[in-house]
Amino acid sequence: MVTYKCFNCGKEIESDMIRKRIRCPFCGGKILFKPRDRIIKVKSR
Ligand SMILES: [Zn+2]
Repeated sequence: MVTYKCFNCGKEIESDMIRKRIRCPFCGGKILFKPRDRIIKVKSR
């Protein structure tokens, strides 16, 4: 199962929750990305 992450609120959304509409069920944000495609490690500055 693919897990997306909302760009707006940062919550994780399973692909099962967005079958028809790519939309965040929590905040309604339309920008979702896959955090597992690229694992970006940010160093604390
Ligand atoms: Zn959201």
